[in-house]
Amino acid sequence: MIGAGVAGGRVAVVGAGVAGLTAAYELGKVGARCDVYERWPGLGGQAATFDVGGGRLLERYYHHLFTSDLHIAGLYRELGMPDGIEWRTSSVAFFAGGASHPFSTPLDLLRFSPMTPLSRVRLGVAVLNLQYRHPDVSPFEGITAKEWILRSVGRSGWEAMWGPLLRGKFGDRAEDISMAWLWSKLTLRRQVRGQEARGEVLGYPRGSFEPLFRALAGAIEEREGRVLIDRPAARIAGTAGGRFELTPGAAGSFRRGHDPQRFEPGGEPQRYDAVLATVPNDVFEALLDPGLVEGVGEAYLEGLRSIEYHAALCLVLELDRQFSPYYWTNVGDRELPFVGLVEQTNFVEPERYGGRHFLYVANYTAQGDPLLALSPDELLDRYEAGLAKVNRAFSRDWVRQRWLFLEPSAQPIVTVGYERRIPPLETGVPGLVLANTTQVYPEDRGTNYAVRLGQEAARAVGARLAVR
Ligand SMILES: Cc1cc2nc3c(=O)[nH]c(=O)nc-3n(C[C@H](O)[C@H](O)[C@H](O)COP(=O)(O)OP(=O)(O)OC[C@H]3O[C@@H](n4cnc5c(N)ncnc54)[C@H](O)[C@@H]3O)c2cc1C
Repeated sequence: MIGAGVAGGRVAVVGAGVAGLTAAYELGKVGARCDVYERWPGLGGQAATFDVGGGRLLERYYHHLFTSDLHIAGLYRELGMPDGIEWRTSSVAFFAGGASHPFSTPLDLLRFSPMTPLSRVRLGVAVLNLQYRHPDVSPFEGITAKEWILRSVGRSGWEAMWGPLLRGKFGDRAEDISMAWLWSKLTLRRQVRGQEARGEVLGYPRGSFEPLFRALAGAIEEREGRVLIDRPAARIAGTAGGRFELTPGAAGSFRRGHDPQRFEPGGEPQRYDAVLATVPNDVFEALLDPGLVEGVGEAYLEGLRSIEYHAALCLVLELDRQFSPYYWTNVGDRELPFVGLVEQTNFVEPERYGGRHFLYVANYTAQGDPLLALSPDELLDRYEAGLAKVNRAFSRDWVRQRWLFLEPSAQPIVTVGYERRIPPLETGVPGLVLANTTQVYPEDRGTNYAVRLGQEAARAVGARLAVR
C-alpha cells in the first residue's frame, strides 16, 4: 500500500514501457498526478507493437508469457481483462547437426540425440532435483551455470545443449553466466508435470500486448495523468527546494538514437515532486544534469556502469508460407549467424493475421557488434544461407516484407556476484528513483517482472511523496 499523503504530488515517469506504465497507474490510484514521457512514438517499450498492415499488430520483439507470470496476469484481471491472455501449447525445436530436434516435452529431451543418453538422464534428474529440493537461490550465486552443468550433467550436456542455449542469450559471455540465473529459469518457469508434461503452455495476449498498454494509459489519464509518446526526457535537474525539473526533448528525437544529450529541447522545463526513470543505466546517467550527477554520487553511477548489457537484433519476416512446424527453434549450430527462429504464426494461428505468416530471426550480440550496423536487406543477405540450412527449400522469394528492430540494452549480463551489483531503486537523491531491467533478479527479465518492478517503484516514489 502506498501512503495517503501522495495525493496531488506531481511525478514524472520516464519511459512508457511496462514498468513505467504500471508505476504511473499505481501512483494514479493513490492520487499522484503522473506525466509519462516516452521517446518512442508508441507504448510498451521492449514489448511495443507495430502495425504489420491492415491494423494487425505484432510485437517488435517476439513475446510470450509463462504460467508462472502471476504479476502480469493479476494486472490483466485488475484492469477488467480477465480473459486478456490466451494460453496455448508451444512447440520447440533445437537445431543442431543439420537437423531440427523436437525439444518440447521430457520425452523429446530423453530422445535428444546430440547429447549422450547418460547425460540426458542426468539432466532430467538434475532439473527435478533443483525443482523439488532447492527452493533457495543463494547456494547457486557463487558458481557459473557452466560449472553446475559440467558437474551435474557432464560435458556433453554443456557442449550439445546448455552452451549453445546460453550463447544464444549471452553470446561470448555464456561461460560467465551465474547459476542463479539458470536456477530461476529451471525452477520458476516450468514445472514438468500436469498438462505441461505434454508441452510447455505459454500465454499470448488476445490481440497482442497493445490492449494492455492502452488500458494502462487510459487508466492513468482517467486519474489526471498524461502519457506523452514521442516526447522523451532530454534532461533532469534538481531545484533548490528538493524538487525536479524535466526538460522534454523535441518530437522525432527517437531518430537521433538513444542518447538524450543528442535530443533537441522540445519545450519549457516542467516541475515535479519526484522522478521515476525506467530507462537503461547509460540513458539514466546521460539524463542527469551536473548537480544531480553529484547528488547521485560516483559510487551509485559506478555500480550502474559495472553492469553490461547485450543488444537484441530482430529481423521480422513476413513469408508467403509456413517456414517450419515449430514456434520456437533454438539454434545450436555456431555456423549460423543467428541464435533463434520464432515463428509467431505457429503459436498464434495465421488466420488472426489475415492468413499471413510471420517469422522472427533473433539475435543477441555485444553492443558495438558490426552486425548491428547492417540494413535489413544486408542482414537478410547475411542470414539467407542459414535460413536455408534450417529449411532447405527456403528461398528469398518467400519474403514478402521485412522489418528490423534493434534494442541496444536488451539483456543485462548476469554474471557471478551480480546480486551484489544490482542498483537500489533509491538513487541517493530523495525522490529520484531508478527502476529498470537490471534490477530484475534472479528471474530472467520479462514483462511480468517489469509489472512487479513498476509496483515496487511506485511504492518507493509514494513513500517519498508522503513525506514531502
Ligand atoms: C528480443 C526480446 C524478447 C523478449 N521476449 C520476452 C518474452 O517473450 N516475454 C516477456 O515477458 N518479456 C520478454 N522480453 C523482455 C521484456 O520486453 C522486458 O523485460 C520489459 O518489456 C521491460 O520493461 P521496462 O519497462 O522495464 O523497460 P523498457 O521496455 O525498456 O522501457 C523503457 C522505456 O523507456 C523509453 N525511453 C528510453 N529513453 C527515454 C527517454 N530519454 N525519455 C523517455 N523515454 C525513454 C524506451 O523507449 C522504453 O519505452 C523480451 C525482450 C527482448 C528485447
